[in-house]
Amino acid sequence: MLDRLISATLPIVPKPVVRFFSRRYIAGPTIEDALSVVRSLRTQGALSTLDILGEFIEAPGAARENAKAYLELVQRIRAEGLTDAHISVKLSALGLLIDRQLCLDNMRELVELVAETDNFLRIDMEDSPCTTATLETYQTLRREFPGRVGVVLQSRLRRTLDDVDAQGEEPGNFRLCKGIYLEPRKIAYTDAELIRRNYTLILEQMFRRGDYVGIATHDERLVWEALRLIRQYGLTPDQYEFQMLLGVDEPLRKILIDAGHRLRVYVPFGKHWYSYSVRRLRENPQIAGYAFKAIFQRG
Ligand SMILES: Cc1cc2nc3c(=O)[nH]c(=O)nc-3n(C[C@H](O)[C@H](O)[C@H](O)COP(=O)(O)OP(=O)(O)OC[C@H]3O[C@@H](n4cnc5c(N)ncnc54)[C@H](O)[C@@H]3O)c2cc1C
Repeated sequence: MLDRLISATLPIVPKPVVRFFSRRYIAGPTIEDALSVVRSLRTQGALSTLDILGEFIEAPGAARENAKAYLELVQRIRAEGLTDAHISVKLSALGLLIDRQLCLDNMRELVELVAETDNFLRIDMEDSPCTTATLETYQTLRREFPGRVGVVLQSRLRRTLDDVDAQGEEPGNFRLCKGIYLEPRKIAYTDAELIRRNYTLILEQMFRRGDYVGIATHDERLVWEALRLIRQYGLTPDQYEFQMLLGVDEPLRKILIDAGHRLRVYVPFGKHWYSYSVRRLRENPQIAGYAFKAIFQRG
């Protein structure tokens, strides 16, 4: 009850307070902050994928600025010799909702550099109005830059199993998650157990097809299902990876790494950390509750 109240009142909480309890989920405002987290994760045996925060834009100029920021990031990753640190990109940040061609042009330039620097780009999945355009962009880019680009699919959506089948025979590269955006029942499962069962169904279909899957979840029941399928299909650790968000369930992260699985951590950073923090904290009000208690105890 208190958690929900805290979550609902987040927008009026002073920024420094939000920053205080979002610190463990966000590397910081700069590239240096992000690369330092990448290095620290490496010492723990974890890989990274870097996301520059700031997806809500309305002008082509802002899309260009975001594309430039990613180009600089990819160059820095190479310069630091960290090319197993991938990048994650939201198409709306590069102009999808302004002009699809503009977005594709920005993405082409970026994936070209990603390919040149021997890196990999994952296209994050946004809310349902973006799904079709995102998958089409993925298809175009994977044809032009084989092995350099992957996309995210959400088990919440009713369409996802069909989307997997529609990818053609060539194995794809997917991150599978539940989906962070609450979607209407008409197009999405709203029951938590069904979202979970659909996740397992889709994951099995992907393994059957030979797709590379980033198994993105902190839900231990799903991790268990994934481990069951990995064993059943006789997969080796180079054929899939687990993925988790920075700051979430670090003990589970360690369990998976210690058991010999590849694990990648999603590392968000950038000057637009505020809106991301509010979204994450809304998603998990319990965390907001704990953080507030900690603040009051300190006071
Ligand atoms: C690497 C990665 C990339 C993602 N990319 C996308 C994407 O492109 N598009 C998209 O729609 N969604 C994305 N998501 C979010 C995903 O869809 C879910 O909303 C999120 O992972 C929570 O679902 P869960 O499977 O972890 O299960 P849940 O049942 O929601 O979580 C299981 C447990 O994990 C902990 N937990 C989960 N999330 C958080 C959190 N934010 N803060 C603190 N604790 C938490 C809680 O203890 C919770 O009980 C991504 C998730 C990950 C891990």
